[in-house]
Amino acid sequence: MPTNPPDEPPVMLSALQHYLFCPRQCALIHLEGAWSENFLTASGRQLHERVDRRGGETRRDVHLATALRLVSNRLGLTGVADMVEFHRQESEFDAEGRCVAAKLPGRGGLWRPFPVEYKRGAPKSHRADEVQLCAQALCLEEMLKVVIAEGALFYGATRRRKDVVFDPELRMQTEDVAAKVHALLRAGITPPPVLTKGCRACSLVDVCRPGDVGGRASARRWIANQVDEVCR
Ligand code: SF4
Repeated sequence: MPTNPPDEPPVMLSALQHYLFCPRQCALIHLEGAWSENFLTASGRQLHERVDRRGGETRRDVHLATALRLVSNRLGLTGVADMVEFHRQESEFDAEGRCVAAKLPGRGGLWRPFPVEYKRGAPKSHRADEVQLCAQALCLEEMLKVVIAEGALFYGATRRRKDVVFDPELRMQTEDVAAKVHALLRAGITPPPVLTKGCRACSLVDVCRPGDVGGRASARRWIANQVDEVCR
């Protein structure tokens, strides 16, 4: 189980999703501080602004907490959850004897956390959104000392929720990506551009200039260097 060196600063949860989209984009944003808004990021931001006001409300047996700050010391992650639903539970444990519910400050009873992340667009073929949600769940598990079996993604384009099960494979992939993001930021080297279909939707395309002559050659060189490092 990977753990983050204690002297290393935590990385933002969003960096995991950026890394899966493109390691160069992750480095441009989280190493070099580049950010550029396009239509896609602007509509995503508007969707988030509706849930990013920190607060909470309780409806019957569900407490809704918005803009909840998250942290995992083990994985070196930090960020904000769009929304965490806390479902009232009779027991601390589920049928398999796992602790699934916790006490909340200033609130009686036991509550089972269920993270919900808001996304613009529709469900995608890759697992970047699931990884980001699972990273939130891993933070909540560490903070509340519970096991979280599932959460949900809400997509703006379809106005539908998609349930996500935090199975061992997704947990392993999330921890692996967290370790890779830390390694990338620790190395402090921005990978060269690799022109892909995703570049068309990338908000940093003008900063990155993936189509420039030399980009592909330098990408090949960078990959060869990475292989050299691993084989050394
Ligand atoms: S333009 Fe393409 S290569 Fe450059 S950061 Fe965006 S996705 Fe990555």
